[in-house]
Amino acid sequence: MRRVVCPGSYDPVTNGHLDIISRASRLYDEVVVAVLINISKKSLFTVDERAEMIAEVTKQYGNVVVEKFHGLTVDFCRERDIPVIVRGLRAVSDFDYELQIAQMNHQLAGVETMFMATNPLYSFLSSSLVKEVAQYGGDVSGLVPEPVQQRLIRRFSQS
Ligand code: ADP
Repeated sequence: MRRVVCPGSYDPVTNGHLDIISRASRLYDEVVVAVLINISKKSLFTVDERAEMIAEVTKQYGNVVVEKFHGLTVDFCRERDIPVIVRGLRAVSDFDYELQIAQMNHQLAGVETMFMATNPLYSFLSSSLVKEVAQYGGDVSGLVPEPVQQRLIRRFSQS
């Protein structure tokens, strides 16, 4: 079985993430979306909430599983015997950093990284921008799936 990992923070998952995950799901037998538990980075949603949202909006693909992890992505890959990471590239600005990580991951564990060019519709889209817009009551309906939009509205109406 050919498996691939899509690692990230997903705070929260956006239509840009979904574009990459859905395209990867057509290329591989199974896509493991690995949600990073990062205690030093403040997140809007807990890792459980983030994983829950991803599971909900990817169930239609049928071959996507969601897991949580902390530590190195390559250790996650090694433990599960998954040889490939997929990362989305939005713009040249993503490239420098992503290239370094990919080279480091290959050096550390022989794990390969495949880059997928983002659909230009989503090249401006990031979780942090979505949160900023939602925080001030902006319309994020074209940027995130419906259940995520509802959660954003609820979260910001609480604060
Ligand atoms: P990280 O915090 O590790 O950058 P993210 O949750 O922001 O994690 O992103 C996870 C993955 O999704 C990365 O490969 C990133 O490049 C990709 N990604 C993020 N936003 C978009 C987007 N708008 N379109 C396509 N891919 C994206």
